[in-house]
Amino acid sequence: MKNLCELCPRCCGADRFGGAAAGYCGALDKSRVFRWGPHFGEEPPIAGERGSGCIFFSRCTMKCLYCQNSPWSWKGAGEDKSIDELAAIMRSLAVDDNVENWNLVSPTPYLPFVREAASKLAKDGIRLPFVWNSSGYERIEILEEFKELCSWALFDLRYSRNETALAASNAPGYVEAARNAVKWAYDREGVNLIARLLVLPGHADEAIENLAWLATELSSEIPVSIMSQFTPAYKALETPPFNRAVFEEEYESVVEAARDFGFENGWIQGYESSNPKSALLGENMPGDHGVVK
Ligand code: SF4
Repeated sequence: MKNLCELCPRCCGADRFGGAAAGYCGALDKSRVFRWGPHFGEEPPIAGERGSGCIFFSRCTMKCLYCQNSPWSWKGAGEDKSIDELAAIMRSLAVDDNVENWNLVSPTPYLPFVREAASKLAKDGIRLPFVWNSSGYERIEILEEFKELCSWALFDLRYSRNETALAASNAPGYVEAARNAVKWAYDREGVNLIARLLVLPGHADEAIENLAWLATELSSEIPVSIMSQFTPAYKALETPPFNRAVFEEEYESVVEAARDFGFENGWIQGYESSNPKSALLGENMPGDHGVVK
């Protein structure tokens, strides 16, 4: 394993694997995990009947000022896990909880550790599909290198303007990175893609621009998951327009655009955040999903 980290598009080059210095994201030389367990709120093909085995990793390559998970994404709450301890978590999800898959939530800084843990389990015959559950801020080279951890690409398309990505998530080059990641997942045989669009207050037009990009550059047959669940949290409480919920008209404009662009595969989260039920975007994919992050 190379010592200097270039796992995410930030390529901060921290000497973290040697334990010398944490990266921009805060990750060091061990996986750090906040919590894990079966989760039934993901999109139906991922939750299945037995639930998705979510592992919520601490730290994050993005710094979203509205992050609902700031105690562990920004502040690093959680516990360091050795490779064997990470393998034990994965084993328990697979064997005790009998989940459908291992759902890696924001795994990018820890991919080499996950691969090592998975290969230990594989020697005991324990294998599950992986969900790579990501903001979309990824590097193609890294997706390719760790493609065995990506049976499902559950990738966000969060912004269509880099200035918003920089202001709201301090993620330079987000738009190209996320679109390239989605395109990679679309093109790659054996990877199932779901593109998630979290509608942000004051920025519904960016979700619509991303839907337009998907429809024109890739395909309107890609399953999309349109989410209304944005709730002001953390630094967003003092940063307009992120200090409010998404207006119903904003949300509906995105849903309408999805239909206009011909998307039929996917799910629409109910506008009311207290209502976890979803409607179908089209006729093709039955089921519903709830709050997923
Ligand atoms: S994953 Fe973390 S340590 Fe690695 S390049 Fe990105 S910010 Fe730096």
